[in-house]
Amino acid sequence: MIPGRLFVISAPSGTGKTTILKRVMGRLAGLAFSVSHTTRIPRAGERDGVEYHFVNQAEFGMMRDNGLFLEWAEVHDNYYGTSRRTIVEQLERGRDVILDIDVQGAAIIRKSSGLAASHIFISPPSLAELEKRLRGRETETEESIQIRLKNARFEMQSAKDYEYVIINDALDEAVRLLAAIILAERAKAHRLPSGRPIELFENS
Ligand code: ADP
Ligand code: 5GP
Repeated sequence: MIPGRLFVISAPSGTGKTTILKRVMGRLAGLAFSVSHTTRIPRAGERDGVEYHFVNQAEFGMMRDNGLFLEWAEVHDNYYGTSRRTIVEQLERGRDVILDIDVQGAAIIRKSSGLAASHIFISPPSLAELEKRLRGRETETEESIQIRLKNARFEMQSAKDYEYVIINDALDEAVRLLAAIILAERAKAHRLPSGRPIELFENS
């Protein structure tokens, strides 16, 4: 059995997922962030290999056609994909891996990855607040904001398919809740290295 676990996290763009994840990763040890490949243009301050591996359409198509992605999807008119090899390597090292992916990618992981995963959806408190956050971030063109708001309505319909839903209203509360979910998943009895609590006694 692969020792690490996947945490699949989805949210409409602008909800605050990146902000929450940065804080939780600074707080909990043993978490690796899956750096996706994307054809999207980097935003100001984004570094290749850190937030994303930025690739062109041809490079993305080659990886996709060679089966190198665990999942991939077209989101907001760009392509995004998760490298299968990187994920499996991290899981085999016993690290839990955070996948920041959209609702289509999450459905693929759920149905066909064969990997143990916890699925967490982060919701904005309202559509009006989502628009405010998207505008406040000052990274998107008006066209990109409109695409993301339109997609948000569709993405919210998938929240019911996730095990956990966090409403990101007060940021500190959302950070605490995500950290608590990860810790609770790690404490599940079947995740003990031996697989059975009684073996803690039997081996001592
Ligand atoms: P995402 O990764 O989901 O697209 P970001 O993390 O980039 O979203 O957050 C979008 C904007 O909303 C950022 O400017 C961020 O500072 C702000 N933000 C995040 N969480 C909250 C919150 N709970 N209340 C108010 N603003 C927030
Ligand atoms: P952004 O361009 O705002 O960084 O991300 C846009 C959307 O793409 C977000 O919903 C994000 O979760 C999603 N995304 C990022 N990486 C991947 C990936 O590897 N696969 C899929 N399916 N979605 C991704």
